[in-house]
Amino acid sequence: MIQALPSPEAVLDRDCDRRTASGYLDAVQARPSHRIMIFQRGKTLVRGNAILFFDPTKVAGQLPADVLTVYLGKTLPGHHPHLPDGTDLVLKVLEDDADSSAWISQGTSLAGYREAAAWLSGADAAIFLQAQAVANWHQTHQFCPRCGSATELLWAGWKRRCPLDASEHFPRTDPAVIVAIVGGDDRILLASNFAWEPNRYSTVAGFVEAGESAEQAAVREILEEVGVHLHATHYVGSQAWPFPRSLMLGFLAHTADVTAVPDNVEVREARWFSRSELQAAVLSGEAVISQRLSIARAMIEHWYGGRIRDYGEAAEGATSVGEKS
Ligand SMILES: [Zn+2]
Repeated sequence: MIQALPSPEAVLDRDCDRRTASGYLDAVQARPSHRIMIFQRGKTLVRGNAILFFDPTKVAGQLPADVLTVYLGKTLPGHHPHLPDGTDLVLKVLEDDADSSAWISQGTSLAGYREAAAWLSGADAAIFLQAQAVANWHQTHQFCPRCGSATELLWAGWKRRCPLDASEHFPRTDPAVIVAIVGGDDRILLASNFAWEPNRYSTVAGFVEAGESAEQAAVREILEEVGVHLHATHYVGSQAWPFPRSLMLGFLAHTADVTAVPDNVEVREARWFSRSELQAAVLSGEAVISQRLSIARAMIEHWYGGRIRDYGEAAEGATSVGEKS
């Protein structure tokens, strides 16, 4: 039986029913209890190990009136470590060239998701991904794809409409598959891409093509990139990956092939690891695997059967996972 990856619950109630009402965003922003998340060029303001959510009464007048504003949602009870339950979050996306220095004070900095994911709480990471996804969409969809007119913003930032032909546009998501390949001897096949540092290994990923199922994409991508045939694919979970707009669909897949052949275009090396080989390689620094809070890491640890200790982490007190025979 293939188990699914742990799937954290949503952190925010996006209030999809009510955010469509005109004036909803204004009503939220009229309440001083809401909090503001500042975003610029894929980065948000952080302090310590947390996203900095601003009290609107303390930043009044510091934001341009026409700044892109999106309603993110209200915190669900017990789902955020710092924010009170029911706190409305409003995203403000500064122009790329806007001066953001006024927002940065002592102990505060702008951080992108990749650098922050290692230390953010799961709740903040989820909010970051949502903000990133919707900000990316607005930045690339300001004009109507039919007629080129500037589109207007509706539904508290979740819909754009063309004033000329009334066509409606919604945030886009591109499906991609990410595959953990397990061989007949229970080893995992990880790939190292030319785009990465030479000792980084991860699961293999690729986009779903038009008119293709996710399972078909998994089989095709794996054959293309590492040259093995999959005979079974099991969906295990997904992760939003808005860089710029992917939804990663995770599959655990099995192959009877023992020889992997990297494509030499994207993939430089495809390498089998047993559990003990992978843990030893990561601990020694010989191999680097994906960081925590990524679905790739979750899938690798899903196969491993527990937490993989990172480079240099003390072995004392840690429980080792035995090899399956
Ligand atoms: Zn149009």
